[in-house]
Amino acid sequence: MRQIEHWIAGKRVGSRSGRTAPVYDPATGQIRAEVALATADEVAGAVEAAAEAAALWRASSLSRRSEVLFAFHHLLASRVDEIAELISAEHGKVPSDAAGEVARGLENVEFSCGIPSLLKGGFSEQVSTGVDVHSVRQPLGVVAGITPFNFPAMVPLWMLANAIACGNAFVLKPSEKDPSTALVLADMLSEAGLPDGVFNVVQGDKEAVDALVDHSQVAAISFVGSTPVARSVYTRGTANGKRVQALGGAKNHMVVLPDAGVDLAADAAVSAAFGSAGERCMAISVVVAVGDIADPLIGAIAARMAKLRVGPGTDPEAEMGPLITAEHRDRVASYLAAAEANGATVVVDGRDHELAQGPWGFFLGASLLDGVHPGMAVYDDEIFGPVLSVVRVDSYDEAVALVNDNPYGNGTAIFTRDGGAARRFEFDVVCGMVGVNVPVPVPVAYYSFGGWKSSLFGDAAMYGPAGVDFYTRTKVVTTRWPDPSTSSVDLGFPRTR
Ligand code: NAD
Repeated sequence: MRQIEHWIAGKRVGSRSGRTAPVYDPATGQIRAEVALATADEVAGAVEAAAEAAALWRASSLSRRSEVLFAFHHLLASRVDEIAELISAEHGKVPSDAAGEVARGLENVEFSCGIPSLLKGGFSEQVSTGVDVHSVRQPLGVVAGITPFNFPAMVPLWMLANAIACGNAFVLKPSEKDPSTALVLADMLSEAGLPDGVFNVVQGDKEAVDALVDHSQVAAISFVGSTPVARSVYTRGTANGKRVQALGGAKNHMVVLPDAGVDLAADAAVSAAFGSAGERCMAISVVVAVGDIADPLIGAIAARMAKLRVGPGTDPEAEMGPLITAEHRDRVASYLAAAEANGATVVVDGRDHELAQGPWGFFLGASLLDGVHPGMAVYDDEIFGPVLSVVRVDSYDEAVALVNDNPYGNGTAIFTRDGGAARRFEFDVVCGMVGVNVPVPVPVAYYSFGGWKSSLFGDAAMYGPAGVDFYTRTKVVTTRWPDPSTSSVDLGFPRTR
């Protein structure tokens, strides 16, 4: 069986401990390879290599760092299709969707190519007589990224581009479910001229994550994954004195006001709910239909769902692939049975799809539920699959209360033709990222990505300007060049006048 290895100090390194896990092709259910699972000792080896490299990398010039990132961007852009196929083979999303995530990841590399201007500090002349102050941003040293299965290229790129550009060394712990993309990124960074040890990959599971979170030489942790793990990584990492940003799960609501165009809203709801089989942290999982738009909207969504093509990524016509594992597929399907038992109406049942009958692959068709309300597990839990719930409400105020009462606050959207209502929603809603007639409002790379409430632990959003802040610390230098003849002893606290 082929082994997917670690990447440490510029070399592929196999499992020393013999701990491994299977990696599946979700479209066939077959095992493609086994991935090495690092022990704490193996993680320590990667951190040591990173610490050694970080000391040299932080001394490299800004133009040198920018040159490496430009070269990396060029390589990545020229291999988008190949990476998309690899993602599709291990994750299951169709290649066109996978190419989209690589494109959004590339935006982050583009942003980090501008590092010389992003790292400009401040200077104040004559803060006191003959005294100047300037501030510089310096890297943290070794920083680690722990990433989820659902974006094996984009989420690592959210982190690594800025981390490396800022002069840190980076240790990536990708998801053990689709670990190969991380190694392709490693190859390309190396080919782009990044010195060995500045970027490392440790494959693994909880044991590797705990080892990174506990290692004294890891200065900061960027985590993206489910809320329970995000919360525990944040708590443990900060207790260990580290800077931690931990992005968690989501339950994204799309509010549709009565004046919204039914076709526009239905197109958006279907695209945002079922793209990547709903395995996106910014997927729409709840449509909040306000007033009498509910019936026509549900009809229009169901009509579109009937035309969705579910299939493997190797089928060029397929729009939605399988789920990540058989276990996850079964868990998602179990919410449909529970919702039905609790009184929801299953308008479209994904369990009936021919590919969901097996015997191969982890497929489940798209499902639509009506009459859902808080208190039902299908509403309360993050399902992370192709299940769209409709909650009917009578007013805008009820719709906003639903969004605001939800423990998650990643993304939300409003569909309306009324600019005043949209502006009010933008002001009222307790959520980190908001779309107006945009169902998946993932910010461009020169803004930053961050949910609120249980969707993000810590106060640092990811990538963009917030990423540069997260991966640097500010040093403030106060300078004077006095005439030595004017010097005297003065025990008073220094004053600025
Ligand atoms: P996950 O939490 O199971 O795993 C995320 C990472 O943590 C993986 O690298 C995994 O190996 C590791 N991990 C898993 N269990 C662990 C444990 N008990 N202790 C320590 N480490 C552990 O998440 P996933 O299933 O890979 O990804 C899906 C989740 O990620 C969803 O909840 C989704 O909403 C969320 N997500 C959030 C964002 C965001 O930006 N907020 C983006 C993408 C995905």
